[in-house]
Amino acid sequence: MAIQLKDIILDDYKNRFSAPPNSFPLHKDNLSMDVINLDGKPTIEAKFKIRGIEDKNSVWKDVMLRYYDIPQEPQELMDTIFKLATDIKLELVGMEAQKATKDRPAIPAIEGQYPHKNLATHGLRFIEDMNVHYKDSKGRERKKEAKARFTLAMAEKQALYLLKKTLRYSKDTTISCSFGVDSVLALHLLRRVTKKDFKVIFNNSLIEYKETYELKAELEKEWDLNIIETKPVESYWSLLEKQGFNFDRKSDRREKNGSKKSNSETCCAKIKHEPFYNLIAQNNFNVNISGLRADESRARMQSALRDSVVYYAKTWSMIRVNPITFFTNTLIWDYIRKYNVKYSKVYDMKLYWEDVFDSVDDEDFGEVCYSPRTGCWPCAVNMERFYFSWLKKFKPLLYWHLMKDRGLAKTLFSMNAHKIGLAKPKTEMKAKVQNTTGQISLFDTEETTESKSCDSCSSVFDDNTVDELLEKYSVEMMETWITRRPCKFMTVS
Ligand code: SF4
Repeated sequence: MAIQLKDIILDDYKNRFSAPPNSFPLHKDNLSMDVINLDGKPTIEAKFKIRGIEDKNSVWKDVMLRYYDIPQEPQELMDTIFKLATDIKLELVGMEAQKATKDRPAIPAIEGQYPHKNLATHGLRFIEDMNVHYKDSKGRERKKEAKARFTLAMAEKQALYLLKKTLRYSKDTTISCSFGVDSVLALHLLRRVTKKDFKVIFNNSLIEYKETYELKAELEKEWDLNIIETKPVESYWSLLEKQGFNFDRKSDRREKNGSKKSNSETCCAKIKHEPFYNLIAQNNFNVNISGLRADESRARMQSALRDSVVYYAKTWSMIRVNPITFFTNTLIWDYIRKYNVKYSKVYDMKLYWEDVFDSVDDEDFGEVCYSPRTGCWPCAVNMERFYFSWLKKFKPLLYWHLMKDRGLAKTLFSMNAHKIGLAKPKTEMKAKVQNTTGQISLFDTEETTESKSCDSCSSVFDDNTVDELLEKYSVEMMETWITRRPCKFMTVS
């Protein structure tokens, strides 16, 4: 009876509750049912289990135990199904299944146990088109807008549930906040749970947009935040002098400057990771909440799938909690509008196609071609095709500082002039360049994948050629080539 009932319940559950927007998946192994004798009366004992609470790989653990009368009539059967589904749903979102009354204690949600990544509380399974790229009708690389198959209210509940659990078991909670929109949202959610029991860690790279510092000052005052600020162990500009611009990806393991660490990794380590590590080691912080989202990039998605929303980070010796892992970009902005949360003004500085080109097709007019993010503004890892056009329009002082004073125009020009026929690369380097495959930078396009260099970029030319080039063209001229032909210049070769 119980076995059949379980099948009926599973089928019915799927039909009723697995459709958007309030979908919850239910794997057959999540539910077990038996008929037991309770107080002399045959009763259904239903257990809802989650795998991976204690042991990430395999162990299933009961997180909900409920008893139901054995239904006698079809209507009673339907009622039982509905009741069970509701109980599971409440359990998953961390709400009390039954409020306490004078005569009856509350039935709490999962006590101190975190949801597993394969369940709805993780949410990733319900996001469609996460980090899916495609080419539009004009062959331009685009990213699909990820779609969440759950409502904002549900995402909020899940995040709040996770934060409540976190605070219940944490002695010294910290939240990392870069004052970008994601971490501000995570902070806003945390403040809905507690106004005081946490410290905010701001890894100040010293190369943030001024809007970031302005927002930090505003929120610090308005929300009465306890902010701890870290500073780089070595500045970006000092690293630039030593190792050049960090065009390489973080995972790039090719040897540079005698090290197999990419320039970007060294840079992130000196500016963000080491200061953060030193801070948590000195203070013994045991929990850190962050605003990381799976929808941001493939790397983030992979780590979210691997680590889930709560995990123990061996490197940091602390628990990390990512309550908004499953928020899509759309949900983020829906939340910001719903609660009128302050965000950095940088996000409003959008670049449109007509800002870049003298004439654009009707269908492109009014379309955004570059949406800025907060973070380290001179970071070469973040330089996308239209980043320079954006920087030039909205932050001209920073743009010219980078191009002229810090030598970015000369660096890019001397590395890429051969692509527009202004210089010829060394013959042996040319062969090497053509034989090399694999992405070097985020800026690669199909057009440029054939010509990549794997060594120090300036060695594409001999020294005389570089000198001649730099003498022949003014910085302004170089800059014009770079912004007019961003694809070619954004690729390191
Ligand atoms: S984001 Fe870029 S500039 Fe900032 S620390 Fe990392 S590599 Fe360096």
